[in-house]
Amino acid sequence: MERIYLDYAATTPCDPEVLKAMEPYFFEKFGNASSIYSFGQEARKAIEDAREFTASFLGARPEEIVFTSGGTESNNFCLEGVSSALEKKGNHIISTAIEHHSISEPLVSLEKKGIKITLVGVDKYGLIDPEDIKKSLTDKTILISVMHANNEIGTIQPIAEIGKIAREKGVYFHTDAVQATGHIPINVNELNVDFLSLSAHKFYGPKGVGALYIRKGSRLARFLHGGDQERGLRASTYNTPGIVGLGKALELCRDKMGEQASFEIGLRDKLIKELPNKITEVYLNGHPVKRLPNNVNFSIKYIEGESILLNLDLLGIACSTGSACTSSSLEPSHVLLATGLSHEIAHGSLRITLGRWTKERDIDYFLEHLPKIVQKLRSMSPLYE
Ligand SMILES: *Cc1c(COP(=O)(O)O)cnc(C)c1O
Repeated sequence: MERIYLDYAATTPCDPEVLKAMEPYFFEKFGNASSIYSFGQEARKAIEDAREFTASFLGARPEEIVFTSGGTESNNFCLEGVSSALEKKGNHIISTAIEHHSISEPLVSLEKKGIKITLVGVDKYGLIDPEDIKKSLTDKTILISVMHANNEIGTIQPIAEIGKIAREKGVYFHTDAVQATGHIPINVNELNVDFLSLSAHKFYGPKGVGALYIRKGSRLARFLHGGDQERGLRASTYNTPGIVGLGKALELCRDKMGEQASFEIGLRDKLIKELPNKITEVYLNGHPVKRLPNNVNFSIKYIEGESILLNLDLLGIACSTGSACTSSSLEPSHVLLATGLSHEIAHGSLRITLGRWTKERDIDYFLEHLPKIVQKLRSMSPLYE
């Protein structure tokens, strides 16, 4: 059976060209990039090339990029690093109700250490109102953290506008751009951000490597203690193959992003248009146009997302309900609840995310089979008349 992968927001396959670029750094050029002999220096050169490319991709400078183990570390690093560096300045952080767990969990932990947290809500499309951020500012606010694009419903936030508010007040602004990077254009200056997180495995690079952009002059305490890699900000032996892979993956995104996005938008909008014609009582989650090119999220009334996933899996189709991290718990997604959905409707949600190897016939196959699955499940549901 042919398998169809429609869960690119959970992770993407590593592009074979990325793999090819990484390969020499496992055996032939395996040196420790902190060593001064040539084995080390050839690895170091590759890392610095990747850093330069990453910086230019974001409109940043090379010295503003720190490589990390992924989006989770970049997010933890920023929240912890700013809280501790600005301890004397204040103790208040503003974030949102729809962040990824790698933001919301560190915030819970900071709250236990005495940091005050304000979480701003969203409208029914999952959009933040920048005015709500403005109203939440106090003279103790040290950081605002708002995700660029949501991993579940794909809604893209008005980051530049929020950044302007932050800048006027002299407050640091971080964005978790893990879902956005490589999928929509990103420029740290146009977005008015001081910190930005990204992760390679969400844009066709390897897992376990990411970066944190740190605007020059921003104060941030080091996160991992140990050696003096990354100018003393982040210890641990350089992950040369991973960093090379991240750079190569961004290079491919630069070349392919425009065309890829228009292809995805075509298929995305076909799903958004066709599903309500084929299934009754389905509702689109997220914003109709301010959304990632590759994201579709629907609530299908009277059935459980989990049951749809299992039935789709029997046909070889992989997609997601809520997000991969929340789908193992019974609580419905905090993102869908924040948009005002009831528990019942939130439970019947389905996320379909497209990518570089998605084909139109995959979408047609999905559109052919999903209505049959829904009909079958509804016929067994006590809620459905
Ligand atoms: C995947 C994801 C993360 C975590 O990134 P990892 O590299 O998997 O740790 C953080 N934020 C968002 C929005 C994500 O989608």
